Amino acid sequence: MGTAGTYKEVKAWQGVTLRQRLRHTAMDALVLKDRFAPIEARLRRPRVQFLYVHHCFPDEERALHRLLDALAKHHHFISYDEAVERVIRRDIDRPYICFSSDDGFRNNLAAGRILAEHGAKACFFINPALIGERDPQRIARHCAERLSFPPVDFLDWHEVGELQRLGHAIGSHTMEHRNVASMTAAEVLEDMQRCRAIIREKCGTADHFAYPYGRATDFTAEARSICAAAGYRSCASAERGCHVGAAAAPDPDRLILRRDHVLLDWPLGHIMHFIAHAPAHP
Ligand SMILES: [Zn+2]
Repeated sequence: MGTAGTYKEVKAWQGVTLRQRLRHTAMDALVLKDRFAPIEARLRRPRVQFLYVHHCFPDEERALHRLLDALAKHHHFISYDEAVERVIRRDIDRPYICFSSDDGFRNNLAAGRILAEHGAKACFFINPALIGERDPQRIARHCAERLSFPPVDFLDWHEVGELQRLGHAIGSHTMEHRNVASMTAAEVLEDMQRCRAIIREKCGTADHFAYPYGRATDFTAEARSICAAAGYRSCASAERGCHVGAAAAPDPDRLILRRDHVLLDWPLGHIMHFIAHAPAHP
C-alpha cells in the first residue's frame, strides 16, 4: 500500500466514530446559536491564541485559505517567537493568532506556503527521526502505532529548509513521537537534548518544544523542568484555551502553552465557534 495522498483517503482508513457524529450534530446546533448571539465580540477579545493542525492534504487546501481569510477579519497573525514573548511579557493588547503544526507530514509544506501567502508565520514541530524517512514499512508502523494514521509521506530536510525560507520556525516534538509521561527523566533529557541539537545543526535554532499527544496527562512537571534545562524557550501542550495575560507574569520555565487543534475538514462555522469560545488562561 502506498501513502495516503488526500484527506478523503485518511477518513476512509480511520472510519467515523459515533462520538464524532454526535459531536458534529452538537456543533451544528451551537453554530446555529451563534447566528442569534454573534461571536464577533468574542473574536475581538485581546488574547494570544495558538492554533495547530497536523496536515493539509490537497483536498484541505481551500479550507485553509478560507479559514485564514475568515480569521484575518478580526486577528493579527504573529510568529511563534512573538506569540511566546507576548504571553511571557503579558503584552496582549489585541487579538493575536499564531499557527503551528505537529508531526512533520510532507503536506505541511503546502500549509507553510498557504500560511506565508496570508502573512502568517508558523512553527512546525518535527520528529527528527522521521524526517527524510522513505522506508514504507517503517512509515506504516510509525503512523499506525504512534499517530493512529494511515501511512503518509514525511518531510525531508530540504523541505524543512523550504519551510524556514518561507519564514517559519522549526520546533521539537521529540525524536520519535514517544509519550514523554512514559519515559524516565534520563530518557526525556537525552531525547530533548538530542532533538534540539539536531534541529539546531540543520536549521540554526530550536527554541520551541511541543510534547506529543498534548493532553495534561501526557506530560509531567519534571519533564517541564527538563525542557527548560535542555534550553527550550517554550513548551506547548494541546490543551484547549487562549492566553489573555495574568495579573502576575508567568514563570517562563514553568509555562505550558495551550493550543487549539483545528481539523481543516471541519465546517468553517464549527472552527470559528471553537476559536471564539476558547477558555481564557494566563
Ligand atoms: Zn504529534
